[in-house]
Amino acid sequence: MIIKIGKAEDNDFIVRDPSVSRHHARLTRDDEGHLVLEDLNSTNGTFVNGSQIVKKRVSLTDTVSLGECRPIDLSEVLRYNNDYSEEFAALKNVYENYTRAKIRIQSSNQFKTRLLQSLPFALPGIIGVLVGFMGKGSPEWFGISLFLAICAPTVGIYLGARQSAKIPRQLQELANQFKIDYVCPKCGTFLGDIPWESLRNRKHCPVSSCQAKWVKE
Ligand SMILES: [Zn+2]
Repeated sequence: MIIKIGKAEDNDFIVRDPSVSRHHARLTRDDEGHLVLEDLNSTNGTFVNGSQIVKKRVSLTDTVSLGECRPIDLSEVLRYNNDYSEEFAALKNVYENYTRAKIRIQSSNQFKTRLLQSLPFALPGIIGVLVGFMGKGSPEWFGISLFLAICAPTVGIYLGARQSAKIPRQLQELANQFKIDYVCPKCGTFLGDIPWESLRNRKHCPVSSCQAKWVKE
């Protein structure tokens, strides 16, 4: 998390005061999760409980002031956090799992469909061979073989078609879940069917009111 504080418009927390520098200070968290306030070489200094600081661990109860302006509330500053780089990084898996699942559904269905459609065509041949082996070239057996030769492919085509009809439903369910999971971690806007790598190049949420930063600068 990095919250940039200062007078310039590109800060996360903007303090409009003549004594505040354009890029005055920043609030981050250290490895242990404590808040750390750092002065960015400002003209009029950053103060914690009246003492000027360069970099200091702070808590929400500390009185923080920039230059000569009135103290700022750190819990208010925290509300302007736009750093969603960790949450955004987690979306990489969401996208990869989605594309993998999509390919799995399509290829497994294709396989089952082809299997169901082609197996019945082999059946009359097998029966024909069996009939030949057993030497029972009777008209009854010939009739059964003929019947199967006509019916089996029809059944196979029917089963295959039914199997392939499952694809749109399974893909639809997958897409629905993807629309819930693949969203901007701050504003919840669906990010579309856009590869994670391409989104990373954009660096921030395209929704203008959101301001979420996806990649640390
Ligand atoms: Zn957003």
